[in-house]
Amino acid sequence: MLECPAADDIFVINVKFRVIICRPCQHAIRRDQVEAHLVSTVHRFCRSWAQQIQAVVQQWNPVDEPPTVDRWPIAIDHRIPHIPVYDDGLLYSICERYICRQIKGLKNHWRLEHGFTPASHRGRPRQGQQQEIRDAIAQHQRQVLCQQLFPHGPGSHYIQAAGSTGATQPNRRRRDPDAVDQLIEEVRGYQRQDREAQRTVIQAGDLDEATPWLNRTGWIRYLQGIPRDPLFNSTARPSDEGTEGIEGAAWAIWQAMHRLATVS
Ligand SMILES: [Zn+2]
Ligand SMILES: [Zn+2]
Repeated sequence: MLECPAADDIFVINVKFRVIICRPCQHAIRRDQVEAHLVSTVHRFCRSWAQQIQAVVQQWNPVDEPPTVDRWPIAIDHRIPHIPVYDDGLLYSICERYICRQIKGLKNHWRLEHGFTPASHRGRPRQGQQQEIRDAIAQHQRQVLCQQLFPHGPGSHYIQAAGSTGATQPNRRRRDPDAVDQLIEEVRGYQRQDREAQRTVIQAGDLDEATPWLNRTGWIRYLQGIPRDPLFNSTARPSDEGTEGIEGAAWAIWQAMHRLATVS
Protein backbone atom coordinates (compact mmCIF):
# COMPACT_ATOMS: atom_id res chain seq x y z
CA MET A 1 0.00 0.00 0.00
CA LEU A 2 1.24 3.48 -0.86
CA GLU A 3 2.41 5.69 1.95
CA CYS A 4 1.32 9.26 2.45
CA PRO A 5 4.10 11.58 1.27
CA ALA A 6 5.89 13.69 3.89
CA ALA A 7 4.53 17.22 4.21
CA ASP A 8 7.92 18.75 3.53
CA ASP A 9 8.24 16.82 0.28
CA ILE A 10 5.33 18.91 -0.97
CA PHE A 11 5.46 22.15 0.99
CA VAL A 12 8.26 24.40 2.21
CA ILE A 13 8.17 27.47 4.47
CA ASN A 14 9.54 30.80 3.35
CA VAL A 15 10.64 32.30 6.65
CA LYS A 16 11.09 35.84 5.36
CA PHE A 17 7.57 36.16 3.96
CA ARG A 18 6.15 33.68 6.49
CA VAL A 19 4.24 31.72 3.88
CA ILE A 20 4.03 28.11 2.74
CA ILE A 21 5.05 27.33 -0.83
CA CYS A 22 3.82 24.30 -2.74
CA ARG A 23 6.96 22.85 -4.35
CA PRO A 24 5.35 21.25 -7.42
CA CYS A 25 3.06 24.23 -8.07
CA GLN A 26 5.82 26.79 -7.38
CA HIS A 27 3.57 29.26 -5.62
CA ALA A 28 2.44 30.09 -2.10
CA ILE A 29 -0.63 28.47 -0.55
CA ARG A 30 -2.54 29.78 2.42
CA ARG A 31 -2.17 27.32 5.25
CA ASP A 32 -5.94 26.97 5.73
CA GLN A 33 -6.13 25.99 2.03
CA VAL A 34 -3.61 23.14 2.16
CA GLU A 35 -6.15 20.33 2.42
CA ALA A 36 -8.38 21.79 -0.29
CA HIS A 37 -5.35 22.34 -2.51
CA LEU A 38 -4.20 18.73 -2.15
CA VAL A 39 -7.58 17.17 -2.97
CA SER A 40 -8.14 19.56 -5.91
CA THR A 41 -7.57 18.44 -9.49
CA VAL A 42 -4.07 19.92 -9.25
CA HIS A 43 -2.84 17.13 -6.93
CA ARG A 44 -5.78 14.70 -6.61
CA PHE A 45 -4.75 13.47 -3.14
CA CYS A 46 -7.23 11.38 -1.20
CA ARG A 47 -8.97 13.19 1.66
CA SER A 48 -7.15 11.27 4.41
CA TRP A 49 -3.67 12.04 3.06
CA ALA A 50 -4.61 15.67 2.57
CA GLN A 51 -5.80 15.85 6.18
CA GLN A 52 -2.64 14.17 7.48
CA ILE A 53 -0.45 16.68 5.63
CA GLN A 54 -2.64 19.61 6.67
CA ALA A 55 -2.20 18.53 10.32
CA VAL A 56 1.60 18.52 9.97
CA VAL A 57 1.73 21.87 8.17
CA GLN A 58 -0.49 23.30 10.91
CA GLN A 59 2.45 22.96 13.33
CA TRP A 60 4.92 24.82 11.11
CA ASN A 61 6.34 28.18 12.15
CA PRO A 62 6.64 30.99 11.40
CA VAL A 63 3.62 31.18 9.12
CA ASP A 64 1.28 34.17 9.10
CA GLU A 65 -2.38 33.43 8.75
CA PRO A 66 -3.57 35.30 6.77
CA PRO A 67 -0.37 36.47 5.05
CA THR A 68 0.73 39.93 6.24
CA VAL A 69 0.99 41.30 2.74
CA ASP A 70 1.28 44.97 3.69
CA ARG A 71 4.47 44.22 5.62
CA TRP A 72 6.12 42.51 2.69
CA PRO A 73 9.05 44.31 1.07
CA ILE A 74 8.55 45.77 -2.41
CA ALA A 75 12.00 44.66 -3.50
CA ILE A 76 14.36 42.05 -2.11
CA ASP A 77 18.12 41.65 -2.37
CA HIS A 78 17.83 37.96 -3.23
CA ARG A 79 15.43 35.67 -5.07
CA ILE A 80 12.64 33.80 -3.34
CA PRO A 81 13.50 30.11 -3.62
CA HIS A 82 11.04 27.55 -5.05
CA ILE A 83 9.10 30.04 -7.18
CA PRO A 84 9.85 31.27 -10.71
CA VAL A 85 11.73 34.45 -11.53
CA TYR A 86 10.33 36.46 -14.45
CA ASP A 87 12.64 38.70 -16.42
CA ASP A 88 9.90 40.74 -18.07
CA GLY A 89 8.74 42.76 -15.06
CA LEU A 90 7.97 46.41 -15.77
CA LEU A 91 8.70 48.72 -12.85
CA TYR A 92 7.01 52.10 -12.84
CA SER A 93 9.98 54.29 -11.95
CA ILE A 94 7.96 57.32 -10.78
CA CYS A 95 6.93 55.61 -7.56
CA GLU A 96 9.24 52.56 -7.68
CA ARG A 97 6.40 50.66 -6.08
CA TYR A 98 4.53 49.01 -8.85
CA ILE A 99 5.58 46.13 -11.11
CA CYS A 100 3.53 44.38 -13.77
CA ARG A 101 4.34 42.24 -16.77
CA GLN A 102 2.01 43.89 -19.25
CA ILE A 103 1.93 47.54 -20.26
CA LYS A 104 -1.82 47.57 -19.60
CA GLY A 105 -1.11 47.16 -15.88
CA LEU A 106 1.11 50.24 -15.86
CA LYS A 107 -1.62 52.27 -17.57
CA ASN A 108 -4.14 51.26 -14.93
CA HIS A 109 -1.72 52.03 -12.16
CA TRP A 110 -0.99 55.45 -13.65
CA ARG A 111 -4.67 56.17 -13.84
CA LEU A 112 -5.76 54.76 -10.49
CA GLU A 113 -2.80 55.52 -8.22
CA HIS A 114 -1.29 58.62 -9.78
CA GLY A 115 -4.49 60.42 -10.47
CA PHE A 116 -4.53 60.53 -14.21
CA THR A 117 -7.88 62.03 -15.27
CA PRO A 118 -8.70 63.08 -18.78
CA ALA A 119 -8.75 66.88 -18.81
CA SER A 120 -11.74 67.52 -21.01
CA HIS A 121 -13.60 64.22 -21.25
CA ARG A 122 -14.93 61.75 -18.82
CA GLY A 123 -14.27 58.11 -19.60
CA ARG A 124 -12.02 57.17 -22.45
CA PRO A 125 -9.07 59.51 -22.99
CA ARG A 126 -8.84 61.19 -26.38
CA GLN A 127 -6.41 60.11 -29.06
CA GLY A 128 -3.75 62.68 -28.15
CA GLN A 129 -4.02 61.91 -24.46
CA GLN A 130 -3.64 58.20 -25.09
CA GLN A 131 -0.39 58.96 -26.87
CA GLU A 132 0.62 61.15 -23.93
CA ILE A 133 0.01 58.28 -21.51
CA ARG A 134 1.93 55.87 -23.70
CA ASP A 135 4.88 58.28 -23.88
CA ALA A 136 4.85 58.94 -20.13
CA ILE A 137 4.77 55.23 -19.39
CA ALA A 138 7.49 54.43 -21.90
CA GLN A 139 9.70 57.08 -20.30
CA HIS A 140 9.15 55.93 -16.75
CA GLN A 141 9.41 52.18 -16.91
CA ARG A 142 12.35 49.95 -16.22
CA GLN A 143 12.59 46.25 -16.93
CA VAL A 144 13.29 44.23 -13.77
CA LEU A 145 13.30 40.68 -12.46
CA CYS A 146 10.19 39.91 -10.48
CA GLN A 147 8.49 37.13 -8.54
CA GLN A 148 4.96 36.46 -7.43
CA LEU A 149 4.16 34.48 -4.28
CA PHE A 150 0.41 33.89 -4.57
CA PRO A 151 -1.14 33.22 -7.99
CA HIS A 152 -4.11 35.53 -7.29
CA GLY A 153 -5.71 37.61 -4.57
CA PRO A 154 -3.79 39.23 -1.69
CA GLY A 155 -0.05 38.69 -2.04
CA SER A 156 -0.21 38.15 -5.80
CA HIS A 157 1.53 41.42 -6.66
CA TYR A 158 5.00 41.24 -8.16
CA ILE A 159 8.05 41.70 -5.97
CA GLN A 160 11.26 42.97 -7.46
CA ALA A 161 13.99 40.35 -7.17
CA ALA A 162 17.75 40.87 -7.16
CA GLY A 163 19.58 40.86 -10.44
CA SER A 164 19.43 42.60 -13.74
CA THR A 165 17.51 41.58 -16.83
CA GLY A 166 20.09 43.27 -19.04
CA ALA A 167 17.19 44.29 -21.26
CA THR A 168 17.08 48.06 -20.87
CA GLN A 169 20.57 49.08 -19.89
CA PRO A 170 21.07 52.74 -20.79
CA ASN A 171 23.60 53.53 -23.49
CA ARG A 172 23.74 49.90 -24.40
CA ARG A 173 26.00 49.53 -27.39
CA ARG A 174 24.10 49.00 -30.58
CA ARG A 175 25.36 46.00 -32.41
CA ASP A 176 27.18 46.77 -35.59
CA PRO A 177 25.53 44.70 -38.36
CA ASP A 178 28.74 44.46 -40.40
CA ALA A 179 30.78 43.20 -37.47
CA VAL A 180 28.10 40.65 -36.59
CA ASP A 181 27.86 39.38 -40.15
CA GLN A 182 31.61 39.09 -40.27
CA LEU A 183 31.66 37.12 -37.05
CA ILE A 184 28.93 34.77 -38.28
CA GLU A 185 30.87 34.23 -41.51
CA GLU A 186 34.03 33.44 -39.53
CA VAL A 187 32.21 30.90 -37.36
CA ARG A 188 30.73 29.28 -40.47
CA GLY A 189 34.24 29.07 -41.93
CA TYR A 190 35.49 27.22 -38.84
CA GLN A 191 32.52 24.88 -38.98
CA ARG A 192 33.25 24.09 -42.64
CA GLN A 193 36.93 23.39 -41.87
CA ASP A 194 35.88 21.19 -38.99
CA ARG A 195 33.51 19.20 -41.19
CA GLU A 196 36.24 18.74 -43.83
CA ALA A 197 38.64 17.47 -41.19
CA GLN A 198 35.99 15.09 -39.82
CA ARG A 199 35.40 13.68 -43.26
CA THR A 200 39.05 12.67 -43.77
CA VAL A 201 39.51 11.01 -40.37
CA ILE A 202 38.07 7.59 -39.67
CA GLN A 203 35.50 7.54 -36.89
CA ALA A 204 35.04 4.58 -34.57
CA GLY A 205 31.78 2.85 -35.29
CA ASP A 206 31.57 3.78 -38.98
CA LEU A 207 29.89 0.40 -39.19
CA ASP A 208 27.66 1.10 -42.14
CA GLU A 209 30.81 1.74 -44.17
CA ALA A 210 32.90 -1.15 -42.87
CA THR A 211 33.27 -4.48 -44.62
CA PRO A 212 32.04 -7.58 -42.80
CA TRP A 213 35.66 -8.54 -42.40
CA LEU A 214 36.49 -5.31 -40.56
CA ASN A 215 33.44 -5.86 -38.41
CA ARG A 216 34.59 -9.32 -37.49
CA THR A 217 38.15 -8.30 -36.63
CA GLY A 218 37.00 -5.22 -34.74
CA TRP A 219 39.92 -3.35 -36.26
CA ILE A 220 37.84 -0.26 -36.82
CA ARG A 221 38.60 0.58 -33.19
CA TYR A 222 42.28 0.74 -33.95
CA LEU A 223 41.81 2.65 -37.18
CA GLN A 224 39.96 5.45 -35.43
CA GLY A 225 41.59 8.85 -35.77
CA ILE A 226 43.94 7.81 -38.57
CA PRO A 227 43.69 10.15 -41.58
CA ARG A 228 42.05 8.34 -44.46
CA ASP A 229 44.49 9.16 -47.29
CA PRO A 230 47.72 7.76 -45.79
CA LEU A 231 45.76 4.68 -44.72
CA PHE A 232 44.50 4.11 -48.26
CA ASN A 233 48.05 4.61 -49.57
CA SER A 234 49.31 2.01 -47.15
CA THR A 235 46.85 -0.55 -48.53
CA ALA A 236 48.04 -0.04 -52.10
CA ARG A 237 49.34 -3.19 -53.67
CA PRO A 238 53.16 -3.24 -53.18
CA SER A 239 55.39 -3.85 -56.13
CA ASP A 240 55.89 -7.60 -56.79
CA GLU A 241 59.04 -6.95 -58.83
CA GLY A 242 61.65 -7.83 -56.24
CA THR A 243 61.02 -10.22 -53.34
CA GLU A 244 63.80 -8.81 -51.19
CA GLY A 245 63.93 -6.10 -48.47
CA ILE A 246 61.00 -4.08 -47.12
CA GLU A 247 59.07 -4.09 -50.36
CA GLY A 248 59.40 -7.87 -50.53
CA ALA A 249 58.13 -8.31 -46.98
CA ALA A 250 55.28 -5.90 -47.67
CA TRP A 251 54.34 -7.94 -50.73
CA ALA A 252 54.25 -11.17 -48.72
CA ILE A 253 52.07 -9.57 -46.01
CA TRP A 254 49.81 -8.00 -48.59
CA GLN A 255 49.25 -11.36 -50.28
CA ALA A 256 48.50 -13.02 -46.95
CA MET A 257 46.04 -10.32 -45.99
CA HIS A 258 44.41 -10.47 -49.38
CA ARG A 259 43.83 -14.21 -49.00
CA LEU A 260 42.46 -13.73 -45.51
CA ALA A 261 40.09 -11.02 -46.72
CA THR A 262 38.95 -13.18 -49.65
CA VAL A 263 38.30 -16.20 -47.45
CA SER A 264 36.29 -14.21 -44.95
ZN1 LIG B 1 0.36 22.45 -5.39
ZN1 LIG C 1 2.86 54.19 -8.38
